[in-house]
Amino acid sequence: MHGPRVRVALLACEPMRDSLVRVSRDVVACERCPRLRRHCREVAEQKVKRFRDQEYWGRPVPGFGDPEARLLVVGLAPAAHGGNRTGRIFTGDRSGDFLFAGLHRAGYASQPESIRRGDGLVLRDCYIAPVARCAPPANRPTPLEIGRCREYLAREWALLSRVRAVLALGRIGMDGFLAMLRERGQRLPRRLEFAHGAAHDLGDGVQLFCSYHVSQQNTFTGRLTPQSFDAVLEEVKRHAGGSMRAFRER
Ligand code: SF4
Repeated sequence: MHGPRVRVALLACEPMRDSLVRVSRDVVACERCPRLRRHCREVAEQKVKRFRDQEYWGRPVPGFGDPEARLLVVGLAPAAHGGNRTGRIFTGDRSGDFLFAGLHRAGYASQPESIRRGDGLVLRDCYIAPVARCAPPANRPTPLEIGRCREYLAREWALLSRVRAVLALGRIGMDGFLAMLRERGQRLPRRLEFAHGAAHDLGDGVQLFCSYHVSQQNTFTGRLTPQSFDAVLEEVKRHAGGSMRAFRER
């Protein structure tokens, strides 16, 4: 038996266990990208007319969802007046309206709306993480900024051990996710095709699915429709084995 002092010394030697809570905390405190941090703060101070009475989050936005998820959705970055305002990814903007309506139809989300933190939305069997956690000017993070942010996706990937399906929203999301796997030493083909509905076997039972991004550019033009998004989610569910009973049986 170790005495209390020895136990304290042993605990001090143990490497700190990572957790999704710890990743979220580190994301929210991150200041690695001066351009993005400045932009997020400026947007949060200036606001837009329709949200002028609201307090903006203005900080990096962490991932969100079920720690036991079999589906990981990889997005691009928070929107200036969406996630950067509400503090939750894909929340309070049109992209989120489209995404969560689809996830709700597929049984992954408890409700079709994602309005604000604390609105009751629960994800079951699904986790959402962007490749960049700060809202970028013109919705375009630079490759350097995405690279700086990759650590957080890598840590989430290591912690989300049940994931069997990855849904990449847009090519940048797909490339950012694959770059993270390569950095972790995973051998992958040099080029993987991005096309709506494309799927790639990543080994170890994990399949990568591609969808056009849920941005207004795609959903308002009809490039991405609820039907074509549902079709990809059906393939995801078929692979990940999800009946998403928890919400369906209520
Ligand atoms: S984009 Fe990522 S790495 Fe850059 S400041 Fe935001 S959280 Fe940090």
